[in-house]
Amino acid sequence: MLFAKDEDMENMRRRAFFRSFGRDISIRSRVSGLFLMVAGSLMVVAFALIYVQVERDVYNHIDEELNEEAGEFVRGLQVTENGILFKDQAEWMERSHVAVDFYPKFVQVVAAGRVPEIARRSFNLFSDTLRYDPSLDNVAFYNSDISGASVRQVQVPVFHKESAGTAAWVVVAVPLEESLFVLSDLRTVLFFSLSVILIILFFVTRVIAGKSLAPLEKVIDTAEKITQENLDERIGLPANKDEIYRLSSTINSLLDRLQAVYTREKQFTADASHELKTPLASILGTLEVLVRKPREPGHYKARIGFCIDELKRMSGLIDQLLLLARYDSDTFRPDINVFDAKGTLAVVLGRVDEQIREKELDVRVRDEGSAMVRADASMLEIMLDNIVVNAVKYSSEGGSVSIVFGNSSDRVVCSVTDAGPGIAAEKIDRVFERFYRVDESRNSQTSGTGLGLAIVKKLADIQGIAVHLSNREEGGTTVILDIPAA
Ligand code: ADP
Repeated sequence: MLFAKDEDMENMRRRAFFRSFGRDISIRSRVSGLFLMVAGSLMVVAFALIYVQVERDVYNHIDEELNEEAGEFVRGLQVTENGILFKDQAEWMERSHVAVDFYPKFVQVVAAGRVPEIARRSFNLFSDTLRYDPSLDNVAFYNSDISGASVRQVQVPVFHKESAGTAAWVVVAVPLEESLFVLSDLRTVLFFSLSVILIILFFVTRVIAGKSLAPLEKVIDTAEKITQENLDERIGLPANKDEIYRLSSTINSLLDRLQAVYTREKQFTADASHELKTPLASILGTLEVLVRKPREPGHYKARIGFCIDELKRMSGLIDQLLLLARYDSDTFRPDINVFDAKGTLAVVLGRVDEQIREKELDVRVRDEGSAMVRADASMLEIMLDNIVVNAVKYSSEGGSVSIVFGNSSDRVVCSVTDAGPGIAAEKIDRVFERFYRVDESRNSQTSGTGLGLAIVKKLADIQGIAVHLSNREEGGTTVILDIPAA
C-alpha cells in the first residue's frame, strides 16, 4: 500500500513522464504524425463518402428495377367485388418468375381483408413466402430474407377503385446477396488501401521532414562544437534564405558579440596584469639591488621614494580597476540627484591646485548660465576629476586651461579646453578604450594608466551624459560633457 506522500511522488513522476514524453518527440515525428492525422481524417471522410455513394447507387438501381417490375404486376391486377383477378397470366410465366437460376424475381400478391391472405405467389418461391407489412399503405422498399437468404423487396399497395381503401399488396423481391458481397468487397478494399496509403504517407513524410530538417542538425552539430577555444568558428549559411538561414545568421551574430566581449575581457585581464606586474617588477628589482650592500642614506631615500611612487601608482590603478568592476555590474544603478556642477568642479580644482601652481597654469572658469544638473554627484565628480587632471597633466608649463559652463533648454554643457599637445587624429577614437595610452614615450613622462577616459565614458553612459573629445585647430584638446539639466 502506498502512503499519501508516496502517492504524491508517484503522481508527480507520472505527470513528469507524460510531460517529457510529449516534449521529447522530435519535430520530424511530430510533423509526420500531425500530417498523418490530418491526411488520415480527410481520407476517412473521402472513403466514407465514396462508400455511401456507391451503396446508394446500388440500392437505387435495385429499387428502380423492383418498382418497374411491381408496376407491371399492379397493372395486371383487377380488383373486383369478388376478389382479385389476374389479367396478365403471361407475366407470371416469365422465366425470372418461374426459375431461380437466371436473375430471379419473386412475386407475391396479398389480398387485404380482415385477415390478409396470400392470393398468389410466383413459382420460383416454391413453398416460401415473402414477408409483408399489412400496416403499410404506400410504396416501401426494405431488406428482408427468404429462408435466410438476403433479398431486397418492394411492397406496393393496390387500392379499391371506389372506396380508395387498400385491396391488395404486390410484393416483389430480388436476391441481394451479390450486391451485399460487392459492397463488402468495396469496404475491404477501401479499408486496406486506406491503411496502406497511411503507412506509406507516414514514411514519406518522415523522410521529407527529415530531409528538410537535416540542415538544422548541421547547425546543432556546429553549435555544439563551439567552445571558448574555437569561438571564431561560425555556422555555414545555407543557400536558401529560409528560416534555417535566419537561425544560423542569428547564432553567428550572437557568437560575434560573445567573441568581442570575450576578447575584450581577455585583453582587459592581460592589460591589467601587465600594468600591475611592471611596477611590481621594478619595485622588486630596486629592493633586491638595495639590500645587496650598504649604501649612502641619500641613495636609500631616493630608491625608497621611487618604490613609494610605484606603489602609489599601483594603488591608484587598483582603485580604478575596482571602480570599473563596480560600475560594470548589471545591478548597479546611479543615484541621480539635482545639484550644481560648478560646486563639483570647485572640489576637483581644489584637489589639483598644487599641480596647477607647480606648472604655473592659467586656469579660467567661465560661467554662461545655470549649471544645475540631474546626475549622480559622486560619478560626475570622478568624471570631472579625470578630465581636469588630464588637462593639467598634458598642459605644458605656463599653459592655459579654460572650463566653460553653458546651457540649452534641457542640457548643461561643460567644456574643458587645454593648450597641450592634442591627440593624433588617427588615435583620437581609441582614447576611451581601457588601457589605451596615445603615445607611450610621451606618456612615460606623465604618469597614467590609460583607464581615466574609459571610466569617464562608462560613467557617462550610465547617467545618459554625452561625452565628446576633439583637438583644437590652434593646438590642445577640448573635452565636452553634455549633461541632462535639472
Ligand atoms: P591616462 O591615465 O594615460 O591619462 P586616460 O584614459 O585618461 O589615461 O587617457 C588616455 C590617453 O589619452 C592618454 O594616455 C593621453 O595620451 C590621451 N589624453 C587624454 N587627455 C588628454 C589631453 N587633455 N591632452 C592630450 N592627450 C590626452
